[in-house]
Amino acid sequence: MALKKLVAGNWKMHGLSSDLAEIQAIADASRQYPQVDVALCVPAIMIERAARTVPGFPIGGQDVHYSEKGAHTGCTSAQMLLDAGAVLTIVGHSERRDSQRETDAEVKAKAEAALSCGLSVILCVGESLEVREQGKAVETAIAQLDASLPETMEGEGELAVAYEPIWAIGTGKVPTTSEIAEIHGAIRRCLLERYGAGGEQVRILYGGSVKPSNAAEIFSVEDVDGALVGGASLKTADFIPIVEAAAGIS
Ligand code: PEP
Repeated sequence: MALKKLVAGNWKMHGLSSDLAEIQAIADASRQYPQVDVALCVPAIMIERAARTVPGFPIGGQDVHYSEKGAHTGCTSAQMLLDAGAVLTIVGHSERRDSQRETDAEVKAKAEAALSCGLSVILCVGESLEVREQGKAVETAIAQLDASLPETMEGEGELAVAYEPIWAIGTGKVPTTSEIAEIHGAIRRCLLERYGAGGEQVRILYGGSVKPSNAAEIFSVEDVDGALVGGASLKTADFIPIVEAAAGIS
């Protein structure tokens, strides 16, 4: 059975008080599509203001620390995200794996910390262009996933996986539908091996240059249960057509 699609925006390091009106507009417009789950992951410092602006609309973080508290300057715990009003968080985004040297073991610990607190998690994996050109995209993404997945899915939060080829993020380049299908199928098999029947319920999002013009085609691929959207999530006019495509309208 097809899973309800999730379209999550990743605002990265964008967002000031003056952008709260855009968040409001996205939340208002997305309420017209109850057949799709929509969320926005905003900078940590903006979570509380965003959550107050759009009560009931899912606001998320973009990273979380795996410790409950302590000497971790500049970091944010799962409890802090929840306390600020977040209901989900991204973990293991390639920009953090790269710039912060985050390892698979850290990503796994972050996912476990978030889920056990009741936050939903979008866990990102994806290969570099070099790896894809070597013909090792599937094995690399699956090895990354296998080492990053939480031991169990216990907790009130829900686990989702985002396949985000690094070379497609912010570049306008997108894998073919058969390349997406190949990796999403392999991710599904990995989830089933790991969690048994529970692996059927984990949504697998595609991320990397999703736009209004390509969203419907991407959503038509088997085992694509939604999208993680960067640049095109910043403006209602770009983001809502993607939500509409997930709803099967465009
Ligand atoms: C992302 O960074 O998660 C992402 C998918 O970005 P973009 O949509 O801009 O490629």
